[in-house]
Amino acid sequence: MASVELIGLTKAYPTPEGVLTILRDLTLTIKAGEAVAVTGPSGCGKSTLLSMLGVLEEPSGGSLRLFGEDPYRLDETARAFFRNARIGFVFQDHHLLPQCTVEENVLIPKLAAGRVVEQDVVRARGLLEQVGLSSRLMHRPGRLSGGERQRVALCRAVINSPDLLLADEPTGNLDPATADEVGDLLLRLVADGGTTLVCVTHSESLADRFPRRLRLRDGGVVDSHAAVEDA
Ligand code: ADP
Ligand code: MG
Repeated sequence: MASVELIGLTKAYPTPEGVLTILRDLTLTIKAGEAVAVTGPSGCGKSTLLSMLGVLEEPSGGSLRLFGEDPYRLDETARAFFRNARIGFVFQDHHLLPQCTVEENVLIPKLAAGRVVEQDVVRARGLLEQVGLSSRLMHRPGRLSGGERQRVALCRAVINSPDLLLADEPTGNLDPATADEVGDLLLRLVADGGTTLVCVTHSESLADRFPRRLRLRDGGVVDSHAAVEDA
């Protein structure tokens, strides 16, 4: 089944100078388990696209389906549940809670969904082990390096085994070597789980490691995958 289906998706904002169209008539399908990099100049609408995919920002027109469902048709409560259960986010800033330990930070989406059981703690520790942070479970984020904080943020984003993982310039604040490590971990965390990954990045080296690339420009999209299929 398609993970993401956009048909004629449009996003426009009313401004005092008139309507500002950010994204125009985007049509594309992303299959379950695909890993897609999104690139494009600053201000072209990459974050806006991710917010719409993340059920945070309603499209102005066209249709958006996630796993066959239009999440914008759900009421607020069902929409929040859908988001928490099926979608993970990683941002440029880690957004970790400073007063919580590394392990607690990873468990926050579980807390939001109800309560934390032993199995969740085991999963959190397993994820932290995968990203090389087993010896940091009880640390506060303030004691970690930028790359380590972002690795914790990755674990938190995948703790609920999301169907769709959205990352908005997740390596944007990191030095190139650390950025490569975090990028590799991101790809590895989704490699075997069937999770669909959509990652906005300025890094050509990170984008090059994705099997598919979307380039946003002037409200439209160039899709490397579509180009290959047409050839
Ligand atoms: P990117 O992530 O590619 O840098 P964004 O998606 O953040 O770009 O923004 C795309 C454009 O949309 C920018 O020109 C921005 O100013 C504009 N924009 C974003 N949110 C709003 C809003 N609420 N009202 C008006 N314009 C907005
Ligand atoms: Mg952005």
